Amino acid sequence: MSMVAFISPFVNDPFALVCQAYKNLYDKPFTAFFDQHEDDDHKEEYGFTHFVEGEIPQIVIFAEHSINVCVETFAHELAHVAVGVEHEHDEIWNAAFDAIFTEYNRLGEELYGKEEGAGDE
Ligand SMILES: [Zn+2]
Repeated sequence: MSMVAFISPFVNDPFALVCQAYKNLYDKPFTAFFDQHEDDDHKEEYGFTHFVEGEIPQIVIFAEHSINVCVETFAHELAHVAVGVEHEHDEIWNAAFDAIFTEYNRLGEELYGKEEGAGDE
Protein backbone atom coordinates (compact mmCIF):
# COMPACT_ATOMS: atom_id res chain seq x y z
CA MET A 1 0.00 0.00 0.00
CA SER A 2 1.35 3.44 -0.80
CA MET A 3 1.24 5.79 2.12
CA VAL A 4 0.72 9.48 1.53
CA ALA A 5 1.43 11.73 4.47
CA PHE A 6 -1.19 14.45 4.66
CA ILE A 7 -0.56 17.59 6.60
CA SER A 8 -3.58 18.59 8.66
CA PRO A 9 -5.15 21.91 7.62
CA PHE A 10 -6.12 22.52 11.26
CA VAL A 11 -3.71 24.25 13.62
CA ASN A 12 -5.27 22.42 16.56
CA ASP A 13 -6.05 19.03 15.07
CA PRO A 14 -6.96 16.80 18.04
CA PHE A 15 -6.20 13.63 16.06
CA ALA A 16 -2.68 14.88 15.36
CA LEU A 17 -2.32 15.75 19.05
CA VAL A 18 -3.47 12.29 20.19
CA CYS A 19 -1.12 10.74 17.64
CA GLN A 20 1.80 12.80 18.94
CA ALA A 21 0.92 11.89 22.54
CA TYR A 22 0.93 8.22 21.52
CA LYS A 23 4.25 8.55 19.68
CA ASN A 24 5.86 10.26 22.68
CA LEU A 25 5.05 7.15 24.73
CA TYR A 26 5.05 4.19 22.35
CA ASP A 27 6.73 3.25 19.11
CA LYS A 28 4.52 0.53 17.64
CA PRO A 29 3.43 1.43 14.11
CA PHE A 30 -0.21 1.56 13.05
CA THR A 31 -2.40 2.82 10.24
CA ALA A 32 -5.69 4.61 10.84
CA PHE A 33 -8.74 5.02 8.63
CA PHE A 34 -12.07 6.76 8.88
CA ASP A 35 -14.98 4.62 7.79
CA GLN A 36 -18.77 4.80 7.69
CA HIS A 37 -21.22 2.21 8.97
CA GLU A 38 -22.43 0.84 5.65
CA ASP A 39 -23.92 -2.37 6.97
CA ASP A 40 -24.64 -3.93 10.36
CA ASP A 41 -21.00 -4.88 10.94
CA HIS A 42 -19.64 -3.05 13.98
CA LYS A 43 -22.95 -1.20 14.19
CA GLU A 44 -22.65 -0.56 17.93
CA GLU A 45 -19.01 0.47 17.78
CA TYR A 46 -17.25 3.81 17.55
CA GLY A 47 -14.22 2.12 16.08
CA PHE A 48 -12.00 -0.91 16.35
CA THR A 49 -8.47 -2.09 15.69
CA HIS A 50 -7.85 -4.87 13.21
CA PHE A 51 -4.94 -7.03 14.39
CA VAL A 52 -3.37 -9.54 12.03
CA GLU A 53 -0.31 -11.51 13.15
CA GLY A 54 2.81 -10.06 11.54
CA GLU A 55 1.03 -7.02 10.09
CA ILE A 56 0.76 -3.41 11.19
CA PRO A 57 -2.49 -2.94 13.17
CA GLN A 58 -5.21 -1.00 11.37
CA ILE A 59 -7.37 1.38 13.38
CA VAL A 60 -10.83 2.11 11.99
CA ILE A 61 -12.79 5.08 13.33
CA PHE A 62 -16.45 5.47 12.39
CA ALA A 63 -16.74 9.01 11.14
CA GLU A 64 -20.41 9.78 11.72
CA HIS A 65 -19.80 10.48 15.40
CA SER A 66 -18.71 13.87 16.73
CA ILE A 67 -15.05 14.79 16.49
CA ASN A 68 -14.81 14.62 20.29
CA VAL A 69 -16.08 11.02 20.25
CA CYS A 70 -13.83 10.10 17.32
CA VAL A 71 -10.77 11.54 19.05
CA GLU A 72 -11.50 9.60 22.22
CA THR A 73 -12.07 6.48 20.13
CA PHE A 74 -8.73 7.06 18.40
CA ALA A 75 -7.00 7.28 21.80
CA HIS A 76 -8.85 4.13 22.91
CA GLU A 77 -7.67 2.22 19.83
CA LEU A 78 -4.11 3.55 20.12
CA ALA A 79 -4.03 2.08 23.64
CA HIS A 80 -4.91 -1.28 22.07
CA VAL A 81 -2.05 -0.86 19.59
CA ALA A 82 0.30 0.11 22.45
CA VAL A 83 -0.33 -2.94 24.64
CA GLY A 84 -1.40 -5.55 22.11
CA VAL A 85 -4.67 -7.25 21.28
CA GLU A 86 -4.31 -9.82 24.08
CA HIS A 87 -4.90 -7.22 26.80
CA GLU A 88 -8.41 -6.31 25.62
CA HIS A 89 -9.63 -3.80 28.25
CA ASP A 90 -7.63 -5.00 31.24
CA GLU A 91 -5.66 -2.83 33.68
CA ILE A 92 -2.61 -2.82 31.38
CA TRP A 93 -4.73 -1.38 28.57
CA ASN A 94 -6.35 1.06 30.98
CA ALA A 95 -2.94 2.33 32.13
CA ALA A 96 -1.92 2.92 28.50
CA PHE A 97 -5.16 4.76 27.77
CA ASP A 98 -4.64 6.96 30.85
CA ALA A 99 -1.03 7.61 29.87
CA ILE A 100 -2.02 8.70 26.36
CA PHE A 101 -4.77 10.94 27.77
CA THR A 102 -2.38 12.53 30.28
CA GLU A 103 0.25 13.14 27.60
CA TYR A 104 -2.44 14.55 25.28
CA ASN A 105 -3.47 17.06 27.94
CA ARG A 106 0.15 17.93 28.70
CA LEU A 107 0.84 18.59 25.00
CA GLY A 108 -2.38 20.56 24.69
CA GLU A 109 -1.42 22.84 27.55
CA GLU A 110 2.09 23.20 26.17
CA LEU A 111 0.84 24.11 22.69
CA TYR A 112 -2.32 26.08 23.37
CA GLY A 113 -2.25 26.98 27.05
CA LYS A 114 -4.62 25.84 29.74
CA GLU A 115 -7.70 27.69 28.47
CA GLU A 116 -8.08 26.01 25.09
CA GLY A 117 -6.17 22.88 26.04
CA ALA A 118 -7.58 19.58 25.02
CA GLY A 119 -11.15 20.59 25.74
CA ASP A 120 -12.03 17.52 27.76
CA GLU A 121 -12.79 19.19 31.07
ZN1 LIG B 1 -11.43 -1.38 23.00
